[in-house]
Amino acid sequence: KLYNEVQDLKGNIRVYCRIRPFLPGQSRKHTTMQYIGDNGELVVMNPSKPGKESHRLFKFNKVFAPAATQEEVFRDTQPLIRSVLDGYNVCIFAYGQTGSGKTYTMTGPNATSVVDWGVNYRALNDLFTISQNRRSSVAYEIGVQMVEIYNEQLFLVLYFCFFGDISMASFDFHTLGIWNTSQPNGLAVPDASMHSVKSTTDVLELMKIGLMNRAVGATALNERSSRSHSILTVHVRGTDLESNAILRGCLHLVDLAGSERVDRSEATGDRLREAQHINKSLSALGDVIFALAQKSHHVPYRNSKLTQVLQSSLGNYTMLEGYGSYYTLLKVFAEKSLLVLVFSSIE
Ligand code: ADP
Ligand code: MG
Repeated sequence: KLYNEVQDLKGNIRVYCRIRPFLPGQSRKHTTMQYIGDNGELVVMNPSKPGKESHRLFKFNKVFAPAATQEEVFRDTQPLIRSVLDGYNVCIFAYGQTGSGKTYTMTGPNATSVVDWGVNYRALNDLFTISQNRRSSVAYEIGVQMVEIYNEQLFLVLYFCFFGDISMASFDFHTLGIWNTSQPNGLAVPDASMHSVKSTTDVLELMKIGLMNRAVGATALNERSSRSHSILTVHVRGTDLESNAILRGCLHLVDLAGSERVDRSEATGDRLREAQHINKSLSALGDVIFALAQKSHHVPYRNSKLTQVLQSSLGNYTMLEGYGSYYTLLKVFAEKSLLVLVFSSIE
């Protein structure tokens, strides 16, 4: 194994929490955060329940305080990301209300500023840099794909592949990324113009185009982007130059739709339909994690597009001591403005 740092983590889902700083104009008085421990403990206040229930302790694998940088968040994900090159399937997803910082963490506020890069750019950059290292005894081919799940339909936003030195990328600018694949795993390639890619910078340029495709294709970008799941997938195929053995790994980087509950009395038409699809897929994800936690024989992956796409990369789940983080993740934090990052890696 080349990138073996991940040994103790493999097969386990880990749950982290990141607390974003106050935004300009937000009142500090309204914080519900009472205590952030170094050991992953977080105490949150619930003002609507005075008395006994007013404070709750949650336990994560780690809590990133508001001062945590993009670099610090990435550093914790790096060993897992590199394990893709050893043939692991890895998934990192950001779960939380709209405004909790999911897109900031996964993509970053600004792709042109390297310090602001989110997990996605850093992960790609890291994987490409390592895979192009000529001293390695494994030759890597890498394919990258961006899909969006909206109302239980899968849309291909961007697709490009690397084949060693003859790097090729393909994406469809004209259909503005709203290319509806009928494949459950979204692996079909549209009839698109081909672009050659020679460096990580080229890849980042293409990703920006992917994000633009997403933007232009949607009538109201911000609205829609928080109501769809966005998945960036990196497929890796490594050939061992001595034995010719082939290994495959994949990395899913997921910016989930906002987890806020939509008031049924207010939502109608399209808005209600979107809300129902989001609720359905987020609870399907919850059910899958719950089944994994229970070591259940039947894991209900087929109940949503989201869980079908992520199936190969969602591994075992071990409850943390204290308040179970399944509960933390799926019940309580749906109501709070917190961002929860979930990491999974399986061989
Ligand atoms: P979401 O994708 O969960 O809806 P965003 O990532 O768009 O939330 O974040 C909401 C706002 O908060 C944005 O203006 C974003 O720039 C800002 N923000 C989020 N996280 C951070 C952070 N860690 N540091 C500084 N600003 C942040
Ligand atoms: Mg967002």
